[in-house]
Amino acid sequence: MVRARAVAEEAELACVFVHEDLDSCDGADYPVVHRRVQEALRAELGNAHYVLAVEEMEAWLLLFPDALSELVGAWKLPAKYRGKDTGRLADPKGILMREVSKGGRRYRESDAPAVLEKAVTLELHRDPVGSNRSWTRFGADIETCCRDHLKQPTRRR
Ligand SMILES: [Zn+2]
Repeated sequence: MVRARAVAEEAELACVFVHEDLDSCDGADYPVVHRRVQEALRAELGNAHYVLAVEEMEAWLLLFPDALSELVGAWKLPAKYRGKDTGRLADPKGILMREVSKGGRRYRESDAPAVLEKAVTLELHRDPVGSNRSWTRFGADIETCCRDHLKQPTRRR
């Protein structure tokens, strides 16, 4: 599919990012699954990054409470989730739907890009509140890609 798209767009295929959710919390499985798929992608495509979010990419959104509140004023991340390893929280999407957005309109999956856009606009993405090693790895992948695969000068994440 990736190669066909490149041909259709008369584009050179410089690199491919594949994103999936692990659908389980961070633990011993994460690096094993990541390595296996990453190596398969590299063997097939050359330059490729497997972006595997633990447990699901909504866990990344919990790293940016101010972006959530900026997007919808009534959204508020409860203190008990601040500064945590969000990759180890069960059901981050449920946290967003039932706890973060209980005072405003309900969080929907389609809100995720807008939350991350806010995080970037507010320059919060460099200083997450808490940790999540799949988010950290995603940032490192982007830096590697800009430096080695796209051969472009890179701004800091
Ligand atoms: Zn790359």
